Amino acid sequence: MLDAVKDAVRKSSIHVCIVNCGGCNGCDVEVVALLSPRYDLEQYGIYVQNNPREADVLLLTGAVTEQWIHNLKRVYDKAPEPKIVVAVGNCPQSGDVFAQEGGHVHAPASNFIPVDAAIPGCPPRPSEILEAILSVGPQAIADRGREEK
Ligand code: SF4
Repeated sequence: MLDAVKDAVRKSSIHVCIVNCGGCNGCDVEVVALLSPRYDLEQYGIYVQNNPREADVLLLTGAVTEQWIHNLKRVYDKAPEPKIVVAVGNCPQSGDVFAQEGGHVHAPASNFIPVDAAIPGCPPRPSEILEAILSVGPQAIADRGREEK
């Protein structure tokens, strides 16, 4: 019974998991701001949780530090297919303020996992993050429906 309810809800909702692979947390704070009454993320059927095994969308923040080179792929592999990765902020794309010659930052994240959408900014505004999720989320749901048939 509970599994049936869960399946029904998941068919029309987008589950987002934040993966911080080594940033300053500035982008994470902007994602959390989406949960405030001002943006009310859940009114769009978008839920933030911390389990990649139940994620439709992985929201990637941070600059891919040394420890994340292998962990990034491991977390990515845990998310069920089809999955979508959205890189939030400059860090996953270029390393931004953490990038330096011979340093321990390995951005871009797309060298390690497929990235479907990227939002520039340091940090990007919550509204930009919301727009990105809404632009790729419905496709995630549609693709999931096709896989289940
Ligand atoms: S993009 Fe800017 S705000 Fe976001 S994690 Fe990197 S340094 Fe912090």
